[in-house]
Amino acid sequence: MKFIDEYREARSVHRFAEAIRRETTRPWTIMEVCGGQTHSIVKFGLDELLPQDVTLVHGPGCPVCVTPVELIDKAVEIASRPDVIFCSFGDMLRVPGSGHSLLEVKARGGDVRIVYSPLDAVKVAQQNPAKQVVFFAVGFETTAPANATAVAQAQRIGLHNFSILVSHVLVPPAMVAILSSPQNRVQGFLAAGHVCAVMGTTEYEPIAAQYRVPIVVTGFEPLDILQGLYLCIRQLEEGRAEVENQYARAVRRSGNEPAQQLIREVFRVVHRKWRGVGEIPESGLGLREAYEEFDAEKRFGLAQMVAEESSECISGLVLRGIKKPHECGAFGTRCTPERPLGAPMVSSEGACAAYYSYRKRAEVQSMKLGAEK
Ligand code: SF4
Repeated sequence: MKFIDEYREARSVHRFAEAIRRETTRPWTIMEVCGGQTHSIVKFGLDELLPQDVTLVHGPGCPVCVTPVELIDKAVEIASRPDVIFCSFGDMLRVPGSGHSLLEVKARGGDVRIVYSPLDAVKVAQQNPAKQVVFFAVGFETTAPANATAVAQAQRIGLHNFSILVSHVLVPPAMVAILSSPQNRVQGFLAAGHVCAVMGTTEYEPIAAQYRVPIVVTGFEPLDILQGLYLCIRQLEEGRAEVENQYARAVRRSGNEPAQQLIREVFRVVHRKWRGVGEIPESGLGLREAYEEFDAEKRFGLAQMVAEESSECISGLVLRGIKKPHECGAFGTRCTPERPLGAPMVSSEGACAAYYSYRKRAEVQSMKLGAEK
């Protein structure tokens, strides 16, 4: 398949792995920001091709994983109302809240629907004028333009039974929070290519300069990731800290300006709480005043709801690259995809789900033993 097969070609993969081995003279810890990259790394065993001195840690770029428990609880509360049709992408349904998940609401008879675009939810609202239709607007900068389009369209056509439950987060403030933490061990980043396709790369330049950390904008296929790692390690070895673009086939320095304009038109930057991490200043998007009639939290009077996270789930440490999934005591035992304790075990981009799906049990067991030594 075009744009897939050539980026998975085995001989080139091994050539890049060899180039990384030649380039590496010291230990380096590199974080891939996006959960899609994590899944590629674990699925294709790319980390196993790297020299021992290169450690990959998994970042916070799984939007489902970082959605805080109280937002799941708010979604559950709204979806449980008899006059509501609650629309969401599929992988939010099994994420546990402090009590129930959206899937449990659906099983109890709630009208919870999986949609593939926020515009599908707009259509559902047009077709069901007697119901309140709510879309769970989760995601990074990648999904924000489509959600902004849905809200702008709802306003344009005067759709008063449509609203969105906003859980938008932004990548650069999360990278700054990781780098500012006293526990930080990340020395270089593979930034998420699809986020940069929307936002461009300029907002990473001050981060690279201030924290002296190379940031390589990287795609999602095995060759993308190995080339991104090669560029990152080469910078580290040469003492450089720059923004480089591995994913040039999709990313321009200025990004997608019309999409950015749409985001700015509908959303404003707000402080946002991240699951397992806490509040990060100016790290999310909320609706602008001109669009606040479409804010489901306000419409349903849920703005002040708070909830406790599972004390057993260490997803905050996993999402900041401090621990790996197999270092969680509940991994594969008390936390499985069927009975998850945390979102990273059920999201299609979650690091715990990647380890559970692609690493054999025995392998994970020996990794656990290695971590305990
Ligand atoms: S294995 Fe489960 S409990 Fe542990 S960090 Fe991952 S999601 Fe949380």
